[in-house]
Amino acid sequence: MVKLDDYIPIIGPEEAESIRRTAAPLRGAAVQHINSAAVGGGVAEILKRLAPLMRDVGLEPRWDVLRGTEDFFAVTKTFHNAFHGQDVSLTYDMFDTYREVSRQNLQLINKEADFVILHDQQPLGLSVLSPGHPGRWIWYCHIDPVDCHPRVWNFLRDYAARCHAAVYHLDEYVKKDLDVKAYVMPPAIDPLGDKNRDITEPERRAALKRLGVPGDLPLVVQISRFDRLKDPVGVIRSYRLAREQAPCRLVLAGGGAGDDPEGAQVLEEARIEAAGDPYIIIMELSPTADLEINALQRSAAVVVQKSVREGFGLTVTEGQWKGRPVVASPVGGIRIQVLDGKTGLAAMGDEAVADAIARLLQDTALADSLGRAGREHVRRNFILPVYLKRWLEMMAAERGV
Ligand code: UDP
Repeated sequence: MVKLDDYIPIIGPEEAESIRRTAAPLRGAAVQHINSAAVGGGVAEILKRLAPLMRDVGLEPRWDVLRGTEDFFAVTKTFHNAFHGQDVSLTYDMFDTYREVSRQNLQLINKEADFVILHDQQPLGLSVLSPGHPGRWIWYCHIDPVDCHPRVWNFLRDYAARCHAAVYHLDEYVKKDLDVKAYVMPPAIDPLGDKNRDITEPERRAALKRLGVPGDLPLVVQISRFDRLKDPVGVIRSYRLAREQAPCRLVLAGGGAGDDPEGAQVLEEARIEAAGDPYIIIMELSPTADLEINALQRSAAVVVQKSVREGFGLTVTEGQWKGRPVVASPVGGIRIQVLDGKTGLAAMGDEAVADAIARLLQDTALADSLGRAGREHVRRNFILPVYLKRWLEMMAAERGV
């Protein structure tokens, strides 16, 4: 079981002590987390590691998973798309399904919890039990809600308004027409998990060998789901322009294409664009490929994230944590992750991204210094113990302790 002390080599003993002090007034607090998936997805990833850490500092966390039906998840998938501004088609039945499944799950609520945390929109319907409940209710919005379809937002806002507070990843995501206290907590990576922990040189080499990636040329790496918003075809175009200036190989790796028809199509588009180019490696990753992702990011001369849109780019944080220089488009959360010229290079468009990649391949001193500063930026802001502290501060503020 993960413990706060395990992180002392990274955060130092004073910071660990400061986290324990922040936790002290919350000792014994019952914290109920509710989300809609025990595995898969960023929220489950975070809760898996955050809940044990909360226990280690004296809280009593409990994590429950909403039980939905196929219809319900079809509705919440539509709502999810609506959050991203898609013009979804909605029916009265969909809202009824959401209400009905929420009602069926009301028994999940711990009637004595000091905090009930509803993660994302799927469990938000449970907030009807908030009036009269003794605890503080918090809605944690893990996605960018700015362009949410108005009808979906109007429906969900009534539920969110029954909470005492809402948490967002970025200042600009705060919903102005939701009249509850807002907190901002960007997400974090776990520096001790398989995706980010230190690995030995033989481990790294063995992983690259398994993946069939040769080590003869500097690697330009983008790890992402095959999704148009990650612009894999644009990455290939940028890479081709960059290698006219400096020799390198491109690795585009990502999973999820197997069970996502659109992902499969985007993967195909990337393959067509690459047209059998031997210097471009396009690979599908299994969902358990954490060590492989770790090795690829560590082996990169440049980590790229050429997203068109991004709530918060965890792959950017992962690359920075490994001390690699990052070139990323300054969209969404990436703007607080990649401070241009300090913790990476911000570049928009095929040519600017190409020039930034080439610059880093040619100027290793710049690449090293951006990599070092990127890692420090992550250490201070985007790792699990820092995230835990932000949670504790938020809960202490909510409780008035
Ligand atoms: N990831 C993964 N396998 C893949 C592609 C991505 O495990 O094939 C991980 C990646 O390492 C990161 C997360 O999924 O931890 C993606 O988060 P990000 O915020 O970059 O993008 P999202 O997919 O949430 O839009």
